[in-house]
Amino acid sequence: MKSSPHRFDQDSLERYLGSRLPGFPRQPAGTLAVRQYSSGQSNPTFYLQKGGQAFVLRKKPHGPLLPRAHKVDREYRVQKALFSAGFPVPEPLLYCSDVSIIGTEFYVMQHVQGRIFRDISLPEVGPAERSALYLAMIETLALLHSFDLQSLGLQGYGRGPGYCKRQVSTWKKQYDAAAHTDIPAMNKLAEWLANNLPPDDSEESLIHGDFRIDNIIFHPTQARVLAVLDWELSTTGHPLADLAYTTQFYFWPASIKGLGQGSILETPSFEELVSTYCRCRRISTTLSNFNFFLALSYFKMAGIAQGVYARYLIGNASAENSHEFAKVVKPLAKLFQHLHLFKCLSKAAFVMRENLLFHQSRKGQEILLKVKQFMKQHIYPAEKEIIKYYTECRNSEDRWKKPPLLERLKELAKAEGLWNLFLPDVSGLSQLDYAQIAEETGRCVFAPEVFNCHAPDTGNMEVLHMYGTEEQKKEWLEPLLEGKISSCFCMTEPDVASSDATNMQCTIEREGNSYVINGKKWWSSGAGNPNCKVAIVMGKTKNSSASRYKQHSMIIVPMDTPGLKLIRPLSVFGYMDEIHGGHFEIHFNDVRVPVSNIILGEGRGFEIAQGRLGPGRIHHCMRSLGAAEAALEILCQRAAQRQTFGKKLYQHEVVAHWIAECRLSIEQARLLTLQTARKIDMLGNRRARKEVAMTKVVVPRAVLKVIDCAVQVCGGAGVSQDFPLAFMFAYIRTLRLADGPDEVHLSTIARWELLDQSKKLTAKI
Ligand SMILES: Cc1cc2nc3c(=O)[nH]c(=O)nc-3n(C[C@H](O)[C@H](O)[C@H](O)COP(=O)(O)OP(=O)(O)OC[C@H]3O[C@@H](n4cnc5c(N)ncnc54)[C@H](O)[C@@H]3O)c2cc1C
Repeated sequence: MKSSPHRFDQDSLERYLGSRLPGFPRQPAGTLAVRQYSSGQSNPTFYLQKGGQAFVLRKKPHGPLLPRAHKVDREYRVQKALFSAGFPVPEPLLYCSDVSIIGTEFYVMQHVQGRIFRDISLPEVGPAERSALYLAMIETLALLHSFDLQSLGLQGYGRGPGYCKRQVSTWKKQYDAAAHTDIPAMNKLAEWLANNLPPDDSEESLIHGDFRIDNIIFHPTQARVLAVLDWELSTTGHPLADLAYTTQFYFWPASIKGLGQGSILETPSFEELVSTYCRCRRISTTLSNFNFFLALSYFKMAGIAQGVYARYLIGNASAENSHEFAKVVKPLAKLFQHLHLFKCLSKAAFVMRENLLFHQSRKGQEILLKVKQFMKQHIYPAEKEIIKYYTECRNSEDRWKKPPLLERLKELAKAEGLWNLFLPDVSGLSQLDYAQIAEETGRCVFAPEVFNCHAPDTGNMEVLHMYGTEEQKKEWLEPLLEGKISSCFCMTEPDVASSDATNMQCTIEREGNSYVINGKKWWSSGAGNPNCKVAIVMGKTKNSSASRYKQHSMIIVPMDTPGLKLIRPLSVFGYMDEIHGGHFEIHFNDVRVPVSNIILGEGRGFEIAQGRLGPGRIHHCMRSLGAAEAALEILCQRAAQRQTFGKKLYQHEVVAHWIAECRLSIEQARLLTLQTARKIDMLGNRRARKEVAMTKVVVPRAVLKVIDCAVQVCGGAGVSQDFPLAFMFAYIRTLRLADGPDEVHLSTIARWELLDQSKKLTAKI
């Protein structure tokens, strides 16, 4: 705040407020404190304080003004309507048209205490909070655009259809009236706008006209909008004009400074903001004519800057830095000429194209955004503490217990509805929807568990959901879905090559009303978790005359059944993998369970295994793509930090090529994964078997390649405990074995390919 060049009669104001503003302290007279805000370029704005009460006054500037500008009575009217509708604006308290009081019209509103960020990059907060603040801002914009003008009592507030045409002509006139020199780029931009008006110019919402983060008061500690300020440019018109204006800075070149703007924003992304907006308004992300609205935003921004400078030239500017505004007019207009605009057009179009190729449902987009947000706000900040817990407990009795912080995060995720997202019938998401969500969670090793989307529980829940009886579901599926218990899956055996499951030796024999299980299993993941209460065990019936693939069954075995013994955890490249509850050898000696524990029926084990492993396999792939992205991030950061032989690491061509190769691998692997997810959605697990097998081979290979490059670029640090890469490598490497080794999948792919080819051949004949 500053002392005001807009001097007015404070005593007159104080007397007026004392007589007109309910609750305004009348005594002691002459104690009204007035300070002008340095912001408020157009209509001078003042902080008023008296007797412990605070208000804000906004008035017209003195002197000759541009036509139709500075209409403080309109500001007052729109704020009044919005405040009554529950929209966050400062409560307008009083409007005064009597120019004898302080020399111009003015209005007074409630003073809202909170945070205002002047620099759009919000340097004072971390990336997670920045995202949350921006998302809160964009949700508020969507809310504004959702109001019905009639219910707000604002009919006639704007001038009806034809908003875009009017905007171009209004801003052209305003610019011409304020221009101090001829800028051909501005004329060209005006001409382009006039020739490229959207074909349908009739959409009408209440729009703010200058919706930016520095016109917003946020809650002092939360990412919540308390008030939207500065309604001078509000009118009725096309809502995309506001959206383009709010997001235009994503495309600004770094050279444009001077309007209080700092560095260009990286988080949240343009796509995140736009899709949040579209989700809140329930509209498609196909933003028709967004290019027009962006160009209009530049034009308007340049026009406003020119107006501020013009007022400076005649000694009537509100702000101290108003002389600097002339500097930005030309670069803003030139953005258009420099084809920068067209770059951003293709970025805007990307939102549409990406969504059309592998279309995520609205619900999928909504949950993906929430998950991203949750990852930023809760998961990444917790990584250090959770990894520390596992490291410190490694040699203690608590080694298999879950860290309390993890449990708290689970509660939080559950409360936000980010729970059991993997199961279409429960979450309402398709595999395609979930693919992108799973990738996001895969960026952090413990995150899938926070959302109750972790193996082997996911696969087991799928089995119980698809094949369990009502009683089995009640007893085991429900607590698993609630996250009250966890489970393990026992198929692989130490004494036989288990990639051929018909080798299996573990037996499940019927004796009266029980089944009796005998055998050895190993690599039962998650069995170490004290919360692991149930195992799904696969075994065979002795001396069965059924065909080879009809001799096996799956059965539910509570972990506390007598005869079931955890023998030892197995290490993975030396890691005990406490995060995933370890991988255990388990022995079953005369383990007896009721016959009702059999799943689907005797001899149906292979049938279940096929059903279980379709989505389960690609969920692993989806998550590991997230790990690949995290590894590539580490690689690039390191390559940009360190230097050898006089160059940054990335400047060595070989490293640059690794970076490129990694990106190629990730993109290729992701496309295949999404394609497989879509095929499962459309045709079911069985008919997507070839694609599932292809994905299962391609993705771990691609991800391992990326992690290996990252390790190489990080040097010794890459294999140390200081970086997550070594653990990532160990974990992802197991995916070339777990759920069937590559070779078995390759044989399957070849078999299906030959079959497909023979079908083609038959069709030709
Ligand atoms: C970290 C981890 C977690 C696991 N979690 C579980 C779990 O929760 N539950 C569970 O039951 N199992 C689990 N497994 C076990 C996993 O599924 C098996 O290791 C896998 O199926 C291979 O079986 P195997 O180890 O008996 O190898 P084998 O069957 O002995 O095969 C060894 C190798 O032989 C070669 N081979 C096999 N068949 C062919 C073929 N047709 N053509 C060419 N070469 C071939 C392959 O190179 C293969 O890697 C896990 C494994 C790991 C490493």
